[in-house]
Amino acid sequence: MMPVLRRPEARVPVTLPPRRAMLAGDCDVLVVGGGPAGMGAALGAAAAGAKTVVVERYGFLGGNATAALVMPLMSFHTGHPQREKLGAHTLLPTDHGPGDPVIAGVVRSFLARLVAQGGALVPSLETGFTVPFDPEQFKLVALEMLDEAGVQFLFHAFASGVLGEGDCEGVVFETKAGPQVIRARMIVDATGDGDIAAAAGAPYEIGREGDGLVQPMTLMFRMADFERAAFEGYLAAHPDQWRGVHGLWDLIARATAAGELDLPREDILFFATPHPREISVNSTRVAHAGPLLGIDPFDLSYAEWVSRRQMRQIVAFLSKYVPGFEQAYLVQSGVQVGVRETRRIRGDYRLTGEDVLAARRFDDVVARSTYPIDLHNPAGTGTALQRLPPGEAYDIPLRCLLPQGLDNVLTAGRCISGSVEAHSSYRVMPVCMAVGQAAGACAALAARHGVPPRRLDPAEVQRELLRQGANLRELAPR
Ligand SMILES: Cc1cc2nc3c(=O)[nH]c(=O)nc-3n(C[C@H](O)[C@H](O)[C@H](O)COP(=O)(O)OP(=O)(O)OC[C@H]3O[C@@H](n4cnc5c(N)ncnc54)[C@H](O)[C@@H]3O)c2cc1C
Repeated sequence: MMPVLRRPEARVPVTLPPRRAMLAGDCDVLVVGGGPAGMGAALGAAAAGAKTVVVERYGFLGGNATAALVMPLMSFHTGHPQREKLGAHTLLPTDHGPGDPVIAGVVRSFLARLVAQGGALVPSLETGFTVPFDPEQFKLVALEMLDEAGVQFLFHAFASGVLGEGDCEGVVFETKAGPQVIRARMIVDATGDGDIAAAAGAPYEIGREGDGLVQPMTLMFRMADFERAAFEGYLAAHPDQWRGVHGLWDLIARATAAGELDLPREDILFFATPHPREISVNSTRVAHAGPLLGIDPFDLSYAEWVSRRQMRQIVAFLSKYVPGFEQAYLVQSGVQVGVRETRRIRGDYRLTGEDVLAARRFDDVVARSTYPIDLHNPAGTGTALQRLPPGEAYDIPLRCLLPQGLDNVLTAGRCISGSVEAHSSYRVMPVCMAVGQAAGACAALAARHGVPPRRLDPAEVQRELLRQGANLRELAPR
């Protein structure tokens, strides 16, 4: 029998006794979730002068970057035909850059500090314009920057509901010390899953139209004592076995035929980190015929169980079959399985895949992205990539951050309003952080003026973002 407790067939409601919570604080802007989007939101709100609190369920910041060991930060540079010149057997991602960065603001200042502290590599041709980083340094620098900005934290607090009807007066957090409430004039939902906006009644979508499938969950892990020269020697002798950052098809076929490997992914995908003898492996895939949701504890438990078993197989496979991995060992896996896609909260505008591929511009642009549409198959093998034209970027309009029917909640990060295809592009971490900065700045202005964010003039939000150093293409302050 599968050891995972499965969802009961019958939904049996259980009535809970009424309870009281303690008031933990009041603020102008409450940011729920301390991932890339929450970090950006907290920094954007504080820079705009708001009394800002960020609340996170874990004991550290970073979200997927640290809790799920998702690495590297994907490129935020425009594509360039020169990428074709990257060698077929390098460890470089061939899918992005090199070109011009389209994101600045807090992403730039955060990365500058991370690089200065030895926690990341500067994006360059050699890194495929991604940013390899060290997750422990990421946690430290994130904490340091929010601390310096005057943001207050509450860790180990899980948002379980909202107070108030229509407008959200505050958020309820479950803690070891019982339920706590934080009241706020504006709330930024940076939970990745849209927990707050959904609890407040905003409409949302999940999954593909038709079958409701979402992108698969993946447990990421790091391996140390990897011998790069031996691995590159193998690739030089087998140039057809590696493309950019993934491959090893023949060895996988041999191990699969020997009954040692049984994976939904058809290839091994891994990335360099700032440490020469370490790699970050992104090769588990929890494929499923039906929807498997990262907001359902039964599905998450199943995903943890399946992905950890896959990880054990992959580590054994690499050690036994792949030159360079003979002495390598599993040093760390994510605190939790990585969740790519859950709720997409419906906002005043819904960004589409066509907007992305056409590099669409919007008058109320608050962030930009160049990342391709990148859909991992939820049901099995294959990943579909569709790139923007070289040199191009698309705009993310403020309206995507404004949940329908809510006047004091904004979304940031991967839960903003868009189609499945658009989401697969704007979900990457630099974009989430830039969108977070926009949500935070907008929330701070709305709190200052005492008006709903959608009643603000977008030009005022843009002026504040430009003042904070954001890149909004050639927009001049209006
Ligand atoms: C396997 C995998 C590989 C990926 N690869 C890359 C990659 O190589 N490069 C890249 O740039 N992007 C990659 N991504 C995408 C990227 O990691 C995410 O889309 C991005 O982290 C989303 O940022 P976010 O801040 O919106 O959400 P998250 O990173 O999910 O952060 C949300 C935060 O909110 C907290 N939280 C959630 N719910 C609550 C609650 N109810 N109460 C309190 N706190 C809560 C969480 O603990 C977390 O800290 C990958 C994602 C996955 C899963």
